Amino acid sequence: MKVRTRFAPSPTGYLHIGGARTALYSCLYAHHNKGETVLRIEDTDLERSTPEAVAAIIDGLNWLGLNFDEGPFYQTKRFDRYKEVIAEMLEAGTAYYCYCTQEELQEMRDRAEANKEKPRYNGKWRPEAGKVLPAIPEGIKPVVRFRNPVDGATSFDDLVHGTITFQNSELDDLIIARPDGTPTYNFCVVIDDMDMGITHVVRGDDHINNTPRQINILKALNAPVPQYAHVAMILGDDGQKLSKRHGAVSVTQYRDEGYLPEAVLNYLIRLGWSHGDQEIFSWDEMVELFDLKDVNKAASAFNTSKLLWLNQHYMIEKDPADLATLLVPYLNALGIEPTDMAYLAEAVKAHVARCQTMVELAEMIQYLYVTELTYDEESVAHHLTAESKPVLMALKDDLAALDVWESAELKGAMKALTKTMNIKMGQIGMPLRTAIVGRAQSPNLDETLMLVGKERTLARLETAIAKIG
Ligand code: GLU
Repeated sequence: MKVRTRFAPSPTGYLHIGGARTALYSCLYAHHNKGETVLRIEDTDLERSTPEAVAAIIDGLNWLGLNFDEGPFYQTKRFDRYKEVIAEMLEAGTAYYCYCTQEELQEMRDRAEANKEKPRYNGKWRPEAGKVLPAIPEGIKPVVRFRNPVDGATSFDDLVHGTITFQNSELDDLIIARPDGTPTYNFCVVIDDMDMGITHVVRGDDHINNTPRQINILKALNAPVPQYAHVAMILGDDGQKLSKRHGAVSVTQYRDEGYLPEAVLNYLIRLGWSHGDQEIFSWDEMVELFDLKDVNKAASAFNTSKLLWLNQHYMIEKDPADLATLLVPYLNALGIEPTDMAYLAEAVKAHVARCQTMVELAEMIQYLYVTELTYDEESVAHHLTAESKPVLMALKDDLAALDVWESAELKGAMKALTKTMNIKMGQIGMPLRTAIVGRAQSPNLDETLMLVGKERTLARLETAIAKIG
């Protein structure tokens, strides 16, 4: 049988990092088994679902490059189908109308609470052989309940957690349609998984309690029961449940903070799954190696420094011209509109190893695009001094005299100056960097000088000399 997985987000907010991992695992498992994967939007909670959230989730998935073979399907567009199955179940006796009033239900809850028990339905309207049901009260719109088996147990072999068993007596007769006829959450999931031919359900372990209820409904419908893989939650670096407090939680916020999708995907696969001690995985390797049975049971803790490390790896690995294209929006955010892409690629190449995010890279090369440099106070205080002034003046003259502005000539001019002034290279390098970059850090001096260009270098040296006074 062909493996079919699905990702089924509820559009009540952005795509968070936990959801993205579930989506990734669903896609990988399908690809690994040469199967298919479906995107389903679980938007039946009309009050909490918004079109903006749907768009944000799809945007997040697209940015990560997670593609689905089918969908998006929207549950709100399938109400007729759910109603049809509810009617069939009422007909078959696997579901029934319940006319209990709010007061009666409240009483059941209060009684359970007083006895320190789980609140449960008392079965008043549940049909049983030989049982006479009460007369149908007037003016009450009934709910529809699933006639859950009372005896025995429901077990499933979770691919992550192993066998999980629930006693049916604990499960209660779930409401599957509200008084206005709209289907409830667990019911829609079941009908969709059945109709969409889902063979493997990958989802957060906060859904474990729903699973036996869903399995019992599937069995009542004579539908095949999929395999389940409940993935543990993600914790923050402090061991608490991951939340906004820990920084970015929406996937697109990682994009905004300058992470590459490859790094986020590579990070996410390792967050709860491993293959020996390998840390770097290409997409093809992920597809080849991933298996749900190797996913960890225990919750995984988020580790920002590891994500940064991966991001740097993927930034360095990328072709500078491609990285330059990806860098444009980050430069735009700083008010820079690069036009010469070959130049930008050179700038990227020279600086990429010195930063961990695209935001950092954009900020780092800003000095190549501004007309007025911003100076780092500390660098100025240390390096633009009375002692460095004559060095900068001499250097300016020597550089001005160069006809060729290439690495060998630039290096030669600086070396010659160390000899004539009897100084060390650092005594040239630090003041020079501060003068042309605005801070005492930059790639190799010759590379930096070439990127800044002769004219601007001389002008910036002039400004720095004047700054010293
Ligand atoms: N819509 C659910 C959620 O966003 C997932 C349900 C499922 O995967 O079965 O948590």
